[in-house]
Amino acid sequence: MTQSSTSPRPSAETGTRAVRQIVRGMPTSDGAGVKLRRVIGQPQLPDLDPFLMLDEFGTDKAEDYIAGFPDHPHRGFETVTYMLDGRMRHRDNHGNEGVLVPGSVQWMTAGRGLVHSEMPEQQAGRMRGFQLWLNLPARDKMTAPKYQEFGPERIPVAQPAAGVTARVIAGTVAGVAGPIQQPATDPTYLDVALEPGASFVQELPADHAAFLYVFEGAVRVGADAGAKPVATHELAVLGEGNQIRLTGVSAGADGRSARAILVAGRPLREPVARYGPFVMNSNAELHQAFEDFQTGKF
Ligand code: MN
Repeated sequence: MTQSSTSPRPSAETGTRAVRQIVRGMPTSDGAGVKLRRVIGQPQLPDLDPFLMLDEFGTDKAEDYIAGFPDHPHRGFETVTYMLDGRMRHRDNHGNEGVLVPGSVQWMTAGRGLVHSEMPEQQAGRMRGFQLWLNLPARDKMTAPKYQEFGPERIPVAQPAAGVTARVIAGTVAGVAGPIQQPATDPTYLDVALEPGASFVQELPADHAAFLYVFEGAVRVGADAGAKPVATHELAVLGEGNQIRLTGVSAGADGRSARAILVAGRPLREPVARYGPFVMNSNAELHQAFEDFQTGKF
């Protein structure tokens, strides 16, 4: 490591990130009436460049999810579905089809457009997981649609410290690299489990936007003095710095570990024009998206 004495690095590049804002998910429904919690993409946190939306779905009641998400279009961004419990079948108008099982990840690049459905592949039982919307840069918005799909056995598990495990969907933890490739936003996406009192430090690029969303138990974020607890169903927007320190506070449903997703990505800093399932850079491009969808060009 080299350091120049004449132009010291700004502290933002070497510090431990603190919690900048706590956001609670807002109950809503989408698709044909699926109940979910919208965490990013609601008034408290309209977006967090490059992240456009984060939904958590989680219920034991079939009536909350059984109607699913029938045929709908997307253009101009990526959807990342991470299943914790339950099975969901996806099918698109280009002939792609598959079933997402517990622990699997589907990273879908909608690009210039597709029409797909996302429907429960079960009549009863628990359905739980996340869908994250990740923006594409202007140069990639009209790229060909693409899927990166990984079953649970293809998501590697790192153990960065005693009492801590991380399923690495994207990014690198303790030398273990996740399978997702996305050079534009260079994402990190980890599912972290921390036993109470267990702690670890994760490097995150200083110029990346980052958040932690706790879905079981509670996690403390930050260095010792300024650390803040983040409770279940809370999202912590992370401030500046090149690393994050997480400590398990209280356990989740398994009685052993708190669980959270830690997500980061390079901001695009481009104009965003969005309406429903279309996310472009200008209103003219949005109008074009509607026209192309309505005339069957997806
Ligand atoms: Mn969709």
